[in-house]
Amino acid sequence: MSRFLCKQAQGLKAYVPGEQPKIQNLIKLNTNESPFPPAPGVKEVVEKAAESLQLYNDLSAAKLTRLLADTYGVKASQVFCGNGSDEVLAFAFQAFGGHGLVYPDITYGCYAVWTGLYHLDAKIIPLKEDYSIDPADYRGNDRCVVIANPNAPTGMALPLSAVAEIAGNNPDQVVIVDEAYVDFGADSAVTLLGEYENILVVRTFSKSRQLAGARLGFAIGSEELIQDLNLIRFSFHPYNVNSLTQAAGTAALEQPEYFEACRQSIIDTRAWTKEKLEQLGFRVLDSKANFLFASAPGMSGAEYQRKLRERNILIRYFDQPRIRDFVRITIGSRDQMERLIEATKELLA
Ligand SMILES: *Cc1c(COP(=O)(O)O)cnc(C)c1O
Repeated sequence: MSRFLCKQAQGLKAYVPGEQPKIQNLIKLNTNESPFPPAPGVKEVVEKAAESLQLYNDLSAAKLTRLLADTYGVKASQVFCGNGSDEVLAFAFQAFGGHGLVYPDITYGCYAVWTGLYHLDAKIIPLKEDYSIDPADYRGNDRCVVIANPNAPTGMALPLSAVAEIAGNNPDQVVIVDEAYVDFGADSAVTLLGEYENILVVRTFSKSRQLAGARLGFAIGSEELIQDLNLIRFSFHPYNVNSLTQAAGTAALEQPEYFEACRQSIIDTRAWTKEKLEQLGFRVLDSKANFLFASAPGMSGAEYQRKLRERNILIRYFDQPRIRDFVRITIGSRDQMERLIEATKELLA
């Protein structure tokens, strides 16, 4: 820390991302990336777009936005694109959380980070004993609600009826539904937008569309909510989605069969991995995401993570109350998961 860092910044608790070491033969199951390469055609359109890098990118991301609108059955004016969904969420916190936010005790770590950064007031509601969200806990509060669905790092999903209940019980608050993992088996609240003007759905190309490194996220909501997000964006960084990323995102959306095949593979491999872990005595929560939240028999989460790391397999452990028995395991390729199970058998023996 320099002696120039201002007092306000000194207290920040920054996000600690999963490690990205450069080790040969590493099986990397710690940051929920896709094990598959970008969709066919992505590389070519990015190369083409690179020929015009002397120009500023399209501020309206028109082609990408149009395609997203068609893909999700909404108007282009209901779509907002951002530099990863982290940026979209941070903008939404600024736009709708000034008077306070409410979110669960166990959820995506960045919510608390932005709350600190923007000096917002957060009310934390514990998940139930079984790690599920009780919609009744969010009844009639006077804060912006933030729910990850499926939740992270549990992977557990809320039925749409519960999301609708939360939105209906908070008609004067924006309900941000972070759907980073929704493509892996949960229901999207996009279908609720006609009925609930206060729902803002936030999604990403990082987990299910093989583009984590391109940094592309988006929000879908009412035209008015999208205008509000643009107010924040144009007050901070108007050119937020660069031209290479716009091209990559567009090309990925134009390959729905590839998207579907990757998605299905992850869902199948998740079921296989869950069964194998349970046979070995693990407790595994019911996941609708591209990861499993699991507790090893007779071992803390930290210990299991360390022992796997000695075998060149990276998974994620969160040193946080209520979940120290657990680890989060990204679903990779079938081959990677077979090696995870083999290593686990060895270290349990
Ligand atoms: C990964 C993740 C994000 C952020 O993804 P981006 O790469 O910034 O699009 C947002 N929310 C949750 C719950 C996540 O797990």
